[in-house]
Amino acid sequence: YKKSGELLERAKKVLAGGVSSEFRKYNYPHALFYTHGKGSRVYDADGNEYLDFTLSQGPLILGHSHPHVLNCVNEYSENGQLFAGQHLREIELAEKISQLIPSAELMRFCLDGSEAVHTAFRIARAKTGRQKFLRFEGHYHGWLDNVCWGLSAKSPEDLGSRESPNVFPWTQGLPQGSRDEFIVLPWNDLQLLKETLAKHHDEIAAIITEPVMCNNGCIVPNKGFLQGLRKLCDQYGITLILDEVITGFRLSLGGAQQHFGITPDLSIFAKAIASGYPLSVIAGKREWLNLLEDGTVIQAGTMNSSNATVAAALATIEVLEKEKPYDRMFNLGQKLMNGLKQIAFEANQNLLIQGPGPMFHTGFTNLEAVKDYRDTLSYDKAKLGRFIAGMHDEGVRIIGRGLWYISAAHTAKDVEQAINTARIVLKNI
Ligand code: PMP
Repeated sequence: YKKSGELLERAKKVLAGGVSSEFRKYNYPHALFYTHGKGSRVYDADGNEYLDFTLSQGPLILGHSHPHVLNCVNEYSENGQLFAGQHLREIELAEKISQLIPSAELMRFCLDGSEAVHTAFRIARAKTGRQKFLRFEGHYHGWLDNVCWGLSAKSPEDLGSRESPNVFPWTQGLPQGSRDEFIVLPWNDLQLLKETLAKHHDEIAAIITEPVMCNNGCIVPNKGFLQGLRKLCDQYGITLILDEVITGFRLSLGGAQQHFGITPDLSIFAKAIASGYPLSVIAGKREWLNLLEDGTVIQAGTMNSSNATVAAALATIEVLEKEKPYDRMFNLGQKLMNGLKQIAFEANQNLLIQGPGPMFHTGFTNLEAVKDYRDTLSYDKAKLGRFIAGMHDEGVRIIGRGLWYISAAHTAKDVEQAINTARIVLKNI
C-alpha cells in the first residue's frame, strides 16, 4: 500500500485528516485510496484488485460504473443541461418514485440523507406543534446536531439514564440544548415504547426509525413491531418517519415499507437511489409535505435535484425495474451468509451473522450469551478489525463495522470467492 501511504501524506497537507470523511484504519498503517471500479470490483492506488462488498457505503446497488447510469449522466452534461431544479427530468423522477412508493404522495429532492432527515424533523414539528423526537438505540440518522446525542431510557420514568450502544464520542461543538431533543429507546421493544408514549406522547413530534437496524449489526424488526409503531403513532398523533437511507431501493423497489407492509407519514431515501450521485428524497403524505408547498416550512439548497443526479437516479431505477435483481440479491446474500456460517463453525469461530440478505452483518461475539439484540452489539472490535483487514489483504472489501452490501453486479462466483477467502482468514485471526 505504498502509493496509498504517499497519497495520504500529500492529502494531509490540504484535507483535514487526509480524507473527506471520518475513516478508521482497521489495522492498516494508513488510510487507503482507490482509483476506479467496474462491476463488483474496485482497484486501489497501488493497482490491487478487490471484490467489493462496501459499494461505496451502500449507494452502488448496480455495482461500479454501470454503463447505463454513466451514459445518462454524460448525455445531460454534453447537452449543456447541467443546472439544478426546474427541469423535465425532476418531474419524471418524482412521478416514478410516487408510482413505486404509495406513501410518497409529494416529495422534495436534496443532497444527502442527513439533510433529508433534518427536513423531516422540521416538517414534523410544524405539523404537530411539539418539540421532541423519539428514536432507537443503535440507529443512525446522519451527523447533524441533535441526532448525535443519545443516552437511552431504562424506563418511562428514567429517560437518558443509560449508555446506548451508539453514543457518539464527538459531541464537542453541538448545541447543548439539542441534547434534550430526543428520547432514545431500545429497538424492538414494543412494551417499553407503549409505556413511554403513554407518559410522554404530548411532547413528541415524531418517531424516527430505520426499518432494519443497519448501523449497528443488521437486525430486522420483530414481527409486528413496525405495525405496532404505526398504530401508536396514529393513536397519539405522532409523525412516523421511516429512515430508508439504506433500505430504500435495496430491499425492493418499494423500499422496506413495501417489504414489511407499513405506511409511514414521511420517508427518507438516499444511497441506492442514484448510484452514488448526491441525491436524497424527503417524501411523504400530502398532509405533511403540503407544509413545504405553502411555505410554512423552509427547505432549500442551490444544488438540489441537479440534472446530472436526477439523470443518475432515473437511470438506476430504470435498470432496477428492467432487471428486477431483488430475488437474486436476496439469494446471493443468503448463500453468502450460509457459507460464512458454515466455515465459521468449522473454524470454531464465534461469528454472529445477521441480516435480511441484500445487506447483512458479521461480528464476533459469544454466541451462547446472546439473548437480545443488545448482546449482539458487544462485538469483539479488535477481532473484527483483524477479520476486515485480513479479508482486505486477500482482496475482499467489507465495511469496517462488519456490514456487507450485495449489488446487482455480484455473481455466484463472487460469493464463492468471498467464502473461500473468509475460510483462509478465519483460520489466522
Ligand atoms: N440514515 C441512515 C439510516 C444512514 O445509514 C445514513 C448514512 N449512513 C444517514 C441517515 C445519513 O445519510 P448521509 O450520509 O447521506 O448524510
